This record gives sequence, structure tokens and C-alpha cells, in this order.
Amino acid sequence: MNIETQCLHEGYKPQNGEARTLPIYQSTTYKYNSTKQVAALFDLTENGHMYSRISNPTVAFVEEKIAALEGGVGALCTASGQAANLIAIMNILKSGDHFISTSAIYGGTVNLFAVTLKNFGIDVTFVDADSSEEEIQKSFRPNTKAVFGETIANPAINVLDIQKFADIAHKNSVPFIIDNTFATPVLCRPFEYGADIVVHSTTKYMDGHAVCVGGVIVDSGNFDWEKSGKFPGLTEPDASYHGVRYTENFGKAAFIVKARVQLMRDFGVYPSAQDAWVLNLGLETLALRIERHCQNADKVAHYLEKSDKIDFVNYPTLESNKYNSLAKKYLPKGCSGVLSFEIKGGRENSIKFIDSLKLAALVVHVADIRTCVLHPASSTHRQLTDEQLAACGITPGLIRFSCGCENVEDIIADIEQALMKI
Ligand SMILES: *Cc1c(COP(=O)(O)O)cnc(C)c1O
Repeated sequence: MNIETQCLHEGYKPQNGEARTLPIYQSTTYKYNSTKQVAALFDLTENGHMYSRISNPTVAFVEEKIAALEGGVGALCTASGQAANLIAIMNILKSGDHFISTSAIYGGTVNLFAVTLKNFGIDVTFVDADSSEEEIQKSFRPNTKAVFGETIANPAINVLDIQKFADIAHKNSVPFIIDNTFATPVLCRPFEYGADIVVHSTTKYMDGHAVCVGGVIVDSGNFDWEKSGKFPGLTEPDASYHGVRYTENFGKAAFIVKARVQLMRDFGVYPSAQDAWVLNLGLETLALRIERHCQNADKVAHYLEKSDKIDFVNYPTLESNKYNSLAKKYLPKGCSGVLSFEIKGGRENSIKFIDSLKLAALVVHVADIRTCVLHPASSTHRQLTDEQLAACGITPGLIRFSCGCENVEDIIADIEQALMKI
């Protein structure tokens, strides 16, 4: 099936006489006939739902759909994108370990990595994604256990050289984890370029309608945890399941099974059936919406590029963009609805412009069906130092503009009237 069809038909597949659309299993618990069966669930020797902190049928169908869209062996939905990143890292790193992340990533992820995980004894080194392999290699240590990056970095709109990062990670026998939130599997499937684990904030395009915070982790099943020898949590017995070895018992699905039965069990950040149902509704039209988002952003970017009131525009389909050739390779269908730009006159004029917009709403959100706008330096990236801001590609006047699915003429007319106020 092509991805447009997968969006509609993967996951829940009704049998004869069953509900046509995904049912909401509004139940915390599941009934069994014998203690032997329940014991088998606790031993992880039988599949089945046990308790809705660990799995739920409605959520499971959505997980199946997202795994299919990304081409992975399994997925785990989480209560937020932050929870997805947290579990993806904690699943393979422990106190005393280290990982490498690109510096141009979502501000909330910077806080999680640089402050909170550090407090738990997990150390991170941020690297410039555009530097050479040799330069990035210098940041590896004997205790480095993972590499992390974003397909399209929020909000600088940098495109990552996925293959380069997968190669560097694999040369060092560690997995490459990639946040594919902005691209979605409609525009890029990072497993095809060697990424091992994909994470998403489903809050953005996957839901797409600004109604539901959520996240997901997808496992490619391709990383060889045993051969690497660096991941005893996956290859050695788990005392909390009297000695189960994830790689031995679950093969290619070792990572995603451990994330669910150990960390989701203990952290308890599973989404509700209702939220998963809403997410599924969004996923059904994902491919259709993304096509319009990309077309609109491309037109807005070209419009802004010609305006004499604009300092610069970041959007990878522009010939002048630094990431144009990487975008042609990794994002041939488009680069999402998100672009960023700066108006001449810096912070003051940027704020005046944002406050003059009528159609585009000022919201702490992005990648939504309605056009929205944000000033990162005074909101999402407010906690970062000037140095960190520069590393994320954020100047004080930078505007993040997220093109919705409206008619692009109306979006451009709104921008035009706001620019006239300057
Ligand atoms: C929003 C976002 C997150 C965090 O996701 P939440 O659902 O808000 O917790 C992580 N990564 C990227 C790229 C994001 O845009």
C-alpha cells in the first residue's frame, strides 16, 4: 500500500460484522478465565492486554498503524512527545552513560537532555550537525550509548544528513535515534537511511488539529544489541521479570518490548484510549494535509524571499537555502508547513509584525491545520542562554511561521497587511 492508503487502512482492520471504525476500549482492565493465563501475561510468555497503563486495544491499533507508516517492527504510544524522548533514551542509557545530540533541536528536548537527564547522571554532548564526521567522532567516549537528531530541526528548519549520522553511530556500535515530528513518515522514513529508532511528538502533524498532546516511539528492529555488546539492559536478565532477556525472548522487537513492559510499566505515561482515538482520526488524513501544508509553505517562502522587508527566510525548498540539496535527497515530496524568517529591524519589528497578524494566530504550537506563528526567543526557547539560542539557529528576531491548510492567498494577504504596518 502507498502511504495515503496506509494512513486509512493500517492498524484497525475490522472482521466480518465488526464496527467499521476504530472502537474506543474505555477500560482500565481485561478479564481472564484462569490464573494460569494471567501468570503467563506477567511472565511475558503470552501476548494480551493486562492493564491500561501498559497497553490498551485502541492505543495498540494506533501503534500498529504508526509502525506500518514508518516501516518499523513495533511502536509504543506515549502521553507526550517529551515522554517519547525520555523513554527512548532511558531504555538504553543509565546513570554514568553518555550520548551525543545535534544542537539544533526542540527547546524542550534541550532542557530534558541538558538539565533533567544530567541530574539523573546521564551526560550529553551537543554537536553541530553540519560539522564533519571527523569532528563529530571526537565527541564519542567509551560510555557513549546513543546518537540523537531531528529530521527537520525546530525552529531553525535545518535538514539533517540522516545517513551521515546513522553511519557515525553504527561505526561506534550505538543506535541512532531520530525525532521525525516535522517530516512525518509521509515526507521521510528515516529507517530507509539507517536510523534505528524514530520518535515523534504526535501533538503536531500526526494529530494535526491541536486537540491532543501525545508521542510515539517506533523501533526499526534493525539494531543488533547483542553484537554491539554495550546494552546489558537488553541482553542480560531483567530482575523485574525474574530473569527475562529481551534480545533472546523478543528478537528484533527487544527494544520496543522493553520500553513498554519495563519503562512504561514503571513511569506510567501511557495515553488514554480516547486520546489514541483522536490521534487515529488525525492520522487518517495525514498524507492529504501534509501535501497542502508543504505547498502553502513553499509559496509563502517564495513570497517572503522577494519582500524587501525580510532579512532572511529559512525554508529548504528555496534554491538559496543551505539545506536545499539535503532536502532534495531526504524530503523530495516537501519540507513541511513550517518556515522561519527574520524581518529587517530585529526583535522589535518581528514582534510588531506578529502582533499585527489577523489570520495567523499567536499560539504556543506548531504544525497545526490552522496557520500559527510564534516568537521562539521569548517563548519556547526562553530558558536557553544566548549561546544555546545561537546553537539552535535562533536569532532574537526570528519568527517561526507554521502554514496551515487554508487557501494560501489568504495566508499571504495576512502577511502582506502585517508587513505594511512596519
Ligand atoms: C513539540 C515537540 C516535542 C515535544 O512534544 P510534546 O508532545 O509537546 O511533549 C519534541 N520534539 C519536537 C520536534 C517537537 O516539535
